[in-house]
Amino acid sequence: MISLYSGEFLEVSIKDLMIPSERVAHVQVGNSLEHALLVLTKSGYTAIPVLDPHYRLMGLISTPIIMDSILGLERIEFEQLERKRVEEAMNTKIPRINIHSTLISSLDLLVDHPFLCIEDDSGIFEGILTRRTVLLKLSKQVKRYNKK
Ligand code: AMP
Repeated sequence: MISLYSGEFLEVSIKDLMIPSERVAHVQVGNSLEHALLVLTKSGYTAIPVLDPHYRLMGLISTPIIMDSILGLERIEFEQLERKRVEEAMNTKIPRINIHSTLISSLDLLVDHPFLCIEDDSGIFEGILTRRTVLLKLSKQVKRYNKK
């Protein structure tokens, strides 16, 4: 039986596992839905953070949210893409974790979300923690224990 309480997995800092903000595709409040759809499509990601000009996390925007917001009664109103801003459609009820939190406190949230946004103490966006990164780390740890 392996012990995950070795300090190597559950106590690893979020900072060491996160994708830093400079490598995270994002949009800014004020950007059009058309721009957001372009970034989402080009990057291939399902959802990306929306930041304000001070790099504070405002919400998340995704392709399904965008499509839903331009859905008319009888047709998809593509002309709305240019007119509508991301802040009119984005999801603001998103899980946030602090840069100083531990991995164990983030695991429950990662069950329901493919990635979590990380903020510093003043709400500045620091990066994301993806379920993939955490599972990769766990997989490496398990393999290392199995070799022992
Ligand atoms: P992954 O586990 O790498 O498939 O990522 C899961 C989700 O996290 C993606 O669908 C995106 O919504 C988000 N994500 C991962 N990496 C990035 C990135 N570099 N920039 C923006 N979003 C990302």
